[in-house]
Amino acid sequence: MRFEDYIKNVPDFPIPGIQFKDITTLIGNGAAFHQAIEELASFASNVGANVVVGPDARGFIIGSPVAYALKAGFVPVRKPGKLPRKVIQFDYDLEYGKNTLCIHEDAIQPGQKVVIIDDLLATGGTIEATIRLIEAAGGEVVGVGFLIELLDLHGRDKIKNYPIKALIQY
Ligand code: AMP
Repeated sequence: MRFEDYIKNVPDFPIPGIQFKDITTLIGNGAAFHQAIEELASFASNVGANVVVGPDARGFIIGSPVAYALKAGFVPVRKPGKLPRKVIQFDYDLEYGKNTLCIHEDAIQPGQKVVIIDDLLATGGTIEATIRLIEAAGGEVVGVGFLIELLDLHGRDKIKNYPIKALIQY
């Protein structure tokens, strides 16, 4: 399946100069969504994952069905103020400004093998922060999977020690 046929490119969104990759047209198509989840679940299974972590918010949409397919648990990584119990948090820099991500401190059991699933790898800042949180919680990151990788932004350089799967590369 040519997954890129299901992605809409939106110029100058949310700010001038950004070419936004809209995944809603892929997940809105039953056959494309199903096939994408199957391929990411196969990757997650091959790297031996037994839990899936998805970053806020599109990582929830893609990561949850991957976890379901694996019969694995799903752990959300969220923006501050959303998780109700004690969290570990990590602050990081975006292209403009800063961001913080949080995980429940007991969400990962020590030694659990974690695959991270998100919609898109851009600069890699979000994934790097998510890896830090999982490792601080005692998990072992065994792979990182995306629908889309933007090669020009070299996010891969930040996560070169981990197996990476991207269904579409631009
Ligand atoms: P990054 O931390 O730079 O790897 O990007 C984090 C998140 O920002 C991605 O998971 C996407 O949800 C979103 N994002 C960044 N760039 C784009 C883009 N060009 N089109 C759509 N979403 C994007």
